[in-house]
Amino acid sequence: PAAGEALLVVDGVRKQFGGLVAVNDVSFEVNAGQIVALIGPNGAGKSTTFNLVTGVLQATRGRIHFRGERIDALSSREIVKRGIGRTFQHVKLLPSMTVLENVAIGAHLRGSNGVWRSVARLNAAEEARLMFDAAEQIRRVGLEQHMYDEAGSLALGQQRIMEIARALCCDPTLLLLDEPAAGLRYREKQQLADLLRKLQADGMSVLLVEHDMDFVMNLADRLVVMEFGTRIAQGLPEEVQNDPAVVEAYLGG
Ligand code: ADP
Ligand code: MG
Repeated sequence: PAAGEALLVVDGVRKQFGGLVAVNDVSFEVNAGQIVALIGPNGAGKSTTFNLVTGVLQATRGRIHFRGERIDALSSREIVKRGIGRTFQHVKLLPSMTVLENVAIGAHLRGSNGVWRSVARLNAAEEARLMFDAAEQIRRVGLEQHMYDEAGSLALGQQRIMEIARALCCDPTLLLLDEPAAGLRYREKQQLADLLRKLQADGMSVLLVEHDMDFVMNLADRLVVMEFGTRIAQGLPEEVQNDPAVVEAYLGG
């Protein structure tokens, strides 16, 4: 889609876990070239929404379209192939392996299990290709000085950026990030925001889940606010910030 056109359309999506309605008929869009933040208190249904979009969970009802194609019945692997890359709320790394290996393996793994088997199945040319792509994405996110460092030795902010490099290896059109700024220092948050702006300038669209209002206020083009599984507001950051329902959700506790 051209800049500004709907890339991801989430339409009346619902997810129930037994009697609990974690996502209650939620609709929103991410337009091409936009950074959209999905915000809301803990337990609002943000991660569940992410897992529905990425095919980790199956919606109870509703539809999800990406680039005009219905994706809600596809597997995670199929969704990644169509151009949705993601990171997880908790960093998943192999601490004693290098950043390069982590990015390459993570990129190859794509949510399947059996890390070693899957790498062992590669022939030399495929492995070289994978390493080449991983190194390119590590440079793109600005982690080249740490390419051969053990991933476990990186600061949390660098680990999060490493995860983004991993997601970039599948050449996504849309990047989904689950709480990328959680636990980061001020300086690290700034570096992360700079990276996301740079990716946006390259044409990337981003949907990020975030608890930290300050972080998204200066970064996101649009906000979608959830509480108790329901979308309670959406709009420009300055509109949403002053919305009484949003103020109540955040301060009313
Ligand atoms: P958020 O990411 O906004 O903090 P979640 O999407 O993780 O919220 O959770 C929304 C609600 O769904 C919570 O009440 C949570 O306990 C529940 N929930 C999430 N995943 C599961 C699951 N796999 N099984 C049962 N309940 C779940
Ligand atoms: Mg969450």
